[in-house]
Amino acid sequence: MPSSNDSIWLGPVSGLGTAGPASPFLLSWPLEAFGTLRVSALFGINLIFFKGIAEPQAIDSVSKPLYQTRCVACKGYRAANPSGDYLTARAALYSVSMKLAAISLISVISGCAFGGSPTTDIKVDQAGYLPRSPKLAMVVSHTLAKDFSVHRAANDAVVFHGKLAEPANDPDSGDLIQTADFTKLDKPGKYYLEVPGAGRSWNFAIGPDVFARPFYLAMRSYYGQRCGTAVDLGPEFPGYKHAACHLEGAYHTSSGKTGPHISAKGWHDAGDYGRYVVNSGISTGTLLWTWELFGGRLQQVKLDLPESGNGTPDILNEIRWNLDWMLSMQDEDGGVWHKQTSERFCDFILPEKDTLISYVIGTGKEPYKSSCATGDFAAVMAIASRAYWPFDAAYAEKCLRAARQAWAWLEKNPDVLFHNPPGVSTGDYGDRDCADEHLWAAAELWRASGDQAFERYFLEHFGAFRKTLKPNGPPDWGNVAPLALWSYALGHGKNAEAVAAIEQDSVSAAQQIVERSSRHPYRISLTSADYVWGSNGVAANYSLQLLVANALRPDRRFVETALDNLHYLLGRNTFSLSWVTQVGDNPYHHPHHRPSAGVGLAEPWPGLLSGGPNRGRQDAAMRKLPNGPPARMYLDEQASYASNEVAINWNAPLVFVLAGALAAN
Ligand SMILES: [Zn+2]
Repeated sequence: MPSSNDSIWLGPVSGLGTAGPASPFLLSWPLEAFGTLRVSALFGINLIFFKGIAEPQAIDSVSKPLYQTRCVACKGYRAANPSGDYLTARAALYSVSMKLAAISLISVISGCAFGGSPTTDIKVDQAGYLPRSPKLAMVVSHTLAKDFSVHRAANDAVVFHGKLAEPANDPDSGDLIQTADFTKLDKPGKYYLEVPGAGRSWNFAIGPDVFARPFYLAMRSYYGQRCGTAVDLGPEFPGYKHAACHLEGAYHTSSGKTGPHISAKGWHDAGDYGRYVVNSGISTGTLLWTWELFGGRLQQVKLDLPESGNGTPDILNEIRWNLDWMLSMQDEDGGVWHKQTSERFCDFILPEKDTLISYVIGTGKEPYKSSCATGDFAAVMAIASRAYWPFDAAYAEKCLRAARQAWAWLEKNPDVLFHNPPGVSTGDYGDRDCADEHLWAAAELWRASGDQAFERYFLEHFGAFRKTLKPNGPPDWGNVAPLALWSYALGHGKNAEAVAAIEQDSVSAAQQIVERSSRHPYRISLTSADYVWGSNGVAANYSLQLLVANALRPDRRFVETALDNLHYLLGRNTFSLSWVTQVGDNPYHHPHHRPSAGVGLAEPWPGLLSGGPNRGRQDAAMRKLPNGPPARMYLDEQASYASNEVAINWNAPLVFVLAGALAAN
């Protein structure tokens, strides 16, 4: 954001005389290089002074805040296609810079201002709600209002009246919350909520397809993360592109080999340009599971990829890009190197400008590959062999062969841990125990091949991991045991007793999550302890856990609670912020994400889930935040990698729950 103290003032911003976030009557936005423009509706519109705009490019710092007023005049605005209204605002402001069109500026501003600017005090899912599901908004009302109304966004007509619930305190955010329940409103359309004394919410939709667009963006974000090729999001997102990157690779001295190594494909892991097998493992596995559980609904979903139309569903086309890179990380002996990255992180530049050598990095001593990476690899390749079988049998065979070779290596080397070798400071993804990866490999290989040896291993070892099916702490990259257990149960393992035990553990945990979430003022599954690095990924993985439990033993409450966590991620949170870029009318803007910084556009690359609140505050930007309730420990700043980075392993469960939401309708 611009850093100047100069401000643009618009006010009052609501036709209702309601409060904006900054003051009762005025909204302010910092504004660089323009002097001060004050428009106060208390005294009519009063242009105090306005310095000429020298550079058209500088207009972004005016037009972006204007564009964000989400006014009635801009009601045609769609999050899906921001360019139209944005350019309208931009054009209007440029005409001001020509010193001829102050009136047109005022008309834009006043038209927006009197339509009413949304308040962060009313929290809605900015993507929306399914017609037949519960529909709640959360209200932080300083007046403890009694009533609320829902209005049609197009004409402000009241379509629903309701009573706010008694206030409840949420210690994790410090918010005193009243719930607005408008479940009975099931007519598809675009709406907003209004609370006397609080203001109006951002727009939201009700409809069967409200999650189709977020799914498209979240899944297509992997295309944006592609390495080793030029990427261009096309006319829908002009300027979101990068040239082919990291085309040359080399063996690091820690890998046990020397010389060049092919550097092919894969997804950039997060805000950096590394590729890590362990994190690729859970991400790719989660996405393949998305296909396996919800494929019927996803079969026809187009992602506008270079491969689109080749006869394979697009979700599998995209996943294959990363599988191909993972295959390139397997050594001839079957073991899999831990990661391919430079020795240190590069600057905040586009990937093609990163000239640091992309090394295959190993453990530094025999056998150089790591057990966790090899176990994850075996599991993912086994799932892939199932998923691709109907579309490309030869590729499916190749994946299964690679999985078996990895398994053979893992049997001989079950405990080779990875830590960064000297001189390497990129991500570690270090794990103290690879037994859960081993179990996951056994379950997926059994399910893919039917071989009894894999099932025998699973049955001999699964008991020790039943405790990982718990209500506090869903799976993550360091804990993949739940995936192993679920795969055996979902695959209808032959040992009925084991299947029944896994089902019961899973259902019991899910029931406890439902109970806890139903008591939470924000209706979310996160506990105070869950506000860790990547807490939004934890929230999404709770939803994954619930949807898997629903697949094992259908229970509508599991699905509704999974949707509640999704509502949290899409705006029903203490910040009223959609934590998915370019989704909703009030998304976050400044992810720790090199391609977003590199393209230098008004908005970041679309479809990316922020890491979210993190009570650990492990970066310099966050340490400047006064310590407070854990759910509020978040900064929408590029510098805050501990709360605002993006990552493929957080987007994957988001994709999973969005696919579940599509299927739930
Ligand atoms: Zn790259």
